Amino acid sequence: MPGTPIPLCTALLIDGELVEGCGPAEPILNPATGETLVRIAEAGVEQVEAAIAAAQRAFAGWARTTPQQRAGVLLEIADALQRQQEQLARLEALNCGKPLHLARQDDLTAAIDVFRFFAGAVRCQTGQLAGEYLPGYTSLVRRDPLGVVASIAPWNYPIMMAAWKIAPALAAGNTLVFKPSEHTPLSILALAPALNALLPPGVLNIVCGGGESVGSHLVSHPAVRMVSLTGDIVTGQKILQAASRTLKRTHLELGGKAPVIVCNDADLEAVVTGVRAYGYYNAGQDCTAACRIYAQAGIHDRLVEELGAAVASLRFAGKRDADNEIGPLITPRQRDRVASFVERALGQPHIERVTGAAVHSGPGFYYQPTLLAGCRQHDEIVQREVFGPVVTVTRFEGLAQAVDWANDSEYGLASSVWTQNLDKAMQVANRLQYGCTWINSHFMLASEMPHGGLKRSGYGKDLSSDSLQDYSVVRHIMARHGEHLE
Ligand code: NAD
Repeated sequence: MPGTPIPLCTALLIDGELVEGCGPAEPILNPATGETLVRIAEAGVEQVEAAIAAAQRAFAGWARTTPQQRAGVLLEIADALQRQQEQLARLEALNCGKPLHLARQDDLTAAIDVFRFFAGAVRCQTGQLAGEYLPGYTSLVRRDPLGVVASIAPWNYPIMMAAWKIAPALAAGNTLVFKPSEHTPLSILALAPALNALLPPGVLNIVCGGGESVGSHLVSHPAVRMVSLTGDIVTGQKILQAASRTLKRTHLELGGKAPVIVCNDADLEAVVTGVRAYGYYNAGQDCTAACRIYAQAGIHDRLVEELGAAVASLRFAGKRDADNEIGPLITPRQRDRVASFVERALGQPHIERVTGAAVHSGPGFYYQPTLLAGCRQHDEIVQREVFGPVVTVTRFEGLAQAVDWANDSEYGLASSVWTQNLDKAMQVANRLQYGCTWINSHFMLASEMPHGGLKRSGYGKDLSSDSLQDYSVVRHIMARHGEHLE
């Protein structure tokens, strides 16, 4: 029932047991109020070791299950998520400050669908034909799991990121040690008892704790065969260095700074509605956020004016959940980081504040939805990921210029182009160096389609059957036999 206090689970899942961590207890905050919700003890070193050892032991059995058996378990996990949907949505709202109605309708719905998708996908994988590529030898190709996977998640979509990481790894036959962000463990810990009831001991272990303590231990452990991270570029670099010592496979989904190219002939109303929604969704704490607009000269001024008014109308920090469209930043540190980006930007005489640009007064870690115009290509605010509710506008004349500027970025995750001319849209989309380009849209994901980046945005693919390939290895089996029937 909304309004009634919700129990908070604090136990980790190690080798089929729900146990309290034995490391230091860290506060878990409600970013909408700043209050401490609970303290959760990190996994101690011996618990991290125990989780890895359990996953190692469980691997032989889980790897030999059939796709049908694993699909059955994934469908049961999806059902468990659905049964706990309201509780988990409330925990996401509490732990991230998300509007509850959005957590319910977006995060939980997507997480459930991801488990259902991988249950189906693992049963209909395709591959090379078996055949005689040398006379007297038959070759066939298998796709096998890797072993123990350490999966490390960020704080922006806790249950959805858990689904993106756990479902394909389990579907492919791996065992896991999953570490949620130290800021947002509540939803996955609430699901842990159900996961424990559905999976054999050790197949999925959940350990909480910081990146430098628990995370780095997982990443450097020789028995871990693969590390999957969604997080910051700097974290990705540290993980690559640690993983290189034991040559682990890595799957990195890092930051983004999505360009939004708006041509003169774009449907202005659609652009304004789209950027208002997808530049600021989740308070801009989204690696695909529509945050870097390039507007062609003929539409630029109208876009800045209309988008400014639309952004100023975004509702947040209200008493009634249904009224709120965005939440706060996750921590005071993240809010202050966003504020300092905007402060430095406004220190440049050519950048104009259209709306926002201030910390919200009142409780919680809110920052006003902000639109900045007059930004130039080499400004820090155009080049670096802010991960907050801040969108910039840069004017361009010709499309070649816009494509060059869009591609002149360390990031390569998501992008969009807005025009009513399909020919132009396709020419621009084909030239953009991004894992995804939307045409006259932004932000939409489908479980069937790959999500992942280029350049410093990383190289792992989440969602889709491409993800199953990332979590498995191709093996060649060759059998010698006679060439002539007697
Ligand atoms: P982060 O890199 O600080 O933390 C991510 C996870 O890595 C956390 O669980 C953290 O504890 C762990 N970690 C940190 N240091 C570690 C280390 N040395 N060894 C092992 N683990 C370590 O990122 P964040 O602040 O939680 O999330 C925000 C970032 O995530 C943004 O840059 C955002 O763009 C990115 N992100 C990317 C995608 C994507 O799909 N590409 C999706 C969501 C978020």
